[in-house]
Amino acid sequence: MANEVYKKFMSESAKMAADTARQEILYGKINRYNAAVKQAKSQFVNLDLARNRAAYLKNKALGDLEKVLVEFEVNFEKNGGRIVWAQDAADAIGEITEIVKKYEAGYVVKSKSSVLEEIELSRHLSELGVETIETGMGEFIMQQAGEQPSHMVNSAMHKSGEEVAALFNAKFGLPATATSDQITAYIRKQLRNKFFNAKIGITGANFLVADSGSVGLTENEGNILMSTAFPEVHIVVAGIEKVIPSIRNLDVFWPLLATYGSGQKTAVYNSLISGPRQEGETDGPKEMVVILLDNNRTAVLAQTIQRRALACIRCGACLNASPVYRTIGGHAYGTTYTGPIGAVITPWMKGLNEYKHLSFASTICGSGTSVCPVKINLHDLLLHNRNDSVKQGMYSTFDGFSMFVWKKLLLNRNWMDKGSAGFKNMMLKKAYGGLWGKKRILPEVAEDSFKQLWEERREGIIRKKKKK
Ligand code: SF4
Repeated sequence: MANEVYKKFMSESAKMAADTARQEILYGKINRYNAAVKQAKSQFVNLDLARNRAAYLKNKALGDLEKVLVEFEVNFEKNGGRIVWAQDAADAIGEITEIVKKYEAGYVVKSKSSVLEEIELSRHLSELGVETIETGMGEFIMQQAGEQPSHMVNSAMHKSGEEVAALFNAKFGLPATATSDQITAYIRKQLRNKFFNAKIGITGANFLVADSGSVGLTENEGNILMSTAFPEVHIVVAGIEKVIPSIRNLDVFWPLLATYGSGQKTAVYNSLISGPRQEGETDGPKEMVVILLDNNRTAVLAQTIQRRALACIRCGACLNASPVYRTIGGHAYGTTYTGPIGAVITPWMKGLNEYKHLSFASTICGSGTSVCPVKINLHDLLLHNRNDSVKQGMYSTFDGFSMFVWKKLLLNRNWMDKGSAGFKNMMLKKAYGGLWGKKRILPEVAEDSFKQLWEERREGIIRKKKKK
């Protein structure tokens, strides 16, 4: 199993690394995002203070998780909502299945949410014969393309406008030159009746607010508002790490999420939903259920160092900053959570042995850490994941042997100086040529070592460079 997951990652990432056209699409979108983020940051008088405060609040909530979650539960239930504790994806799907059967729903309207991808909601519902209507623009496009989202904020990050137009031409007969406005208008029209007649709306949650018992949702399209206002039931699936202590904390989280997520000062719609429709209210569901999902988040929490990663507010900034994500895109990871944050948490959520390679697929340049609004030290955490996997003996005989040899060599200057550059290059090629990939040139050992050059310089020897 481990081998298969790793092999797939290696082959997919090698394919993507050679796909320069795809990278250009990613770079174009990320460049536009970077310019917008720069603008949006100007709203903060002291951005660093805001980031520190957000980090503190998230870490405090993680430290008191049992208490804060129960506070959320009590307050949400006071508002008339129902809480379900789900140990894993099967528990969450089981609860959703019961609700779908109770309401005899033929379809559900679903908003964009990573956690709903994580539990593979659409696949499970389709096995029950229930259709999932994706209501986010990016997710609607991905559903038509038969693909998973490739980015936690911009699901269709890897697709060009031309590709989307061609897809809608082939599937719905829109002009092959359709603009994004035309495509958006088409999708809106398709969704309108679905919203009005839906019995069940399913969303994720950006924040669970403990002191008010509310679910905080942020979006730009209004599809979440429609998915929660019209249906009879609103089901929320939220990871347990989404809880924050107080409604007052949103003054820092909402602007930070908008700034780092999409380069906006604030998202177009920020909603706080605190329970089902109350007497005298004209809209909102008659039943509201929040499913609090663990699904191995407690395995991340159990790591004294890596638990910091649960402070993530899923803004996607570390993906955009990561040279690895920008080169291989999201699909190559083969996981719901991608980029640096995905590489930290997935090994704990899905199995360290099977997914440890993601923690090794990083340059440890710290670019994700530098942009994280909640100051998660992603590159450190990746190193800790590597360290843990090695400590648990999760490495091949070849890796163990080659590290043994490297250590011997690097600790002994005389050994390092033995053999010509040609010999060393031949050995390196034999050992690492395959791993390095066919499309890259393995760096070569120089003719003269630094030590030789330094000694010659000190002795004032000026040599003519050997002609190759
Ligand atoms: S780790 Fe930080 S930068 Fe990355 S998605 Fe989470 S909050 Fe955003």
